[in-house]
Amino acid sequence: MSKAHRGTGVRTEFNHGRGKCPRCGTENVKVLYEKEIDGNTVKICKRCNAELKNIAKKEARASKAAAAAAAPAEEAATEAPAEA
Ligand SMILES: [Zn+2]
Repeated sequence: MSKAHRGTGVRTEFNHGRGKCPRCGTENVKVLYEKEIDGNTVKICKRCNAELKNIAKKEARASKAAAAAAAPAEEAATEAPAEA
């Protein structure tokens, strides 16, 4: 099995996978990472891939924290009338 983003894995790609990244605009970088941006799938560079991954991670964590923060508040609201 070849590595997907280096060596034999990129030999079949046009220009060995090198080109201009549509997201950051850097030229002559390897654009091998398929990502869906605004509905269309584009090939972006390694850095943009990592950046988007981090953004997604942050958002997932934020939504999880928001759900956790909302849940106890709801429980407290439903419990309060039962106690009184
Ligand atoms: Zn990029």
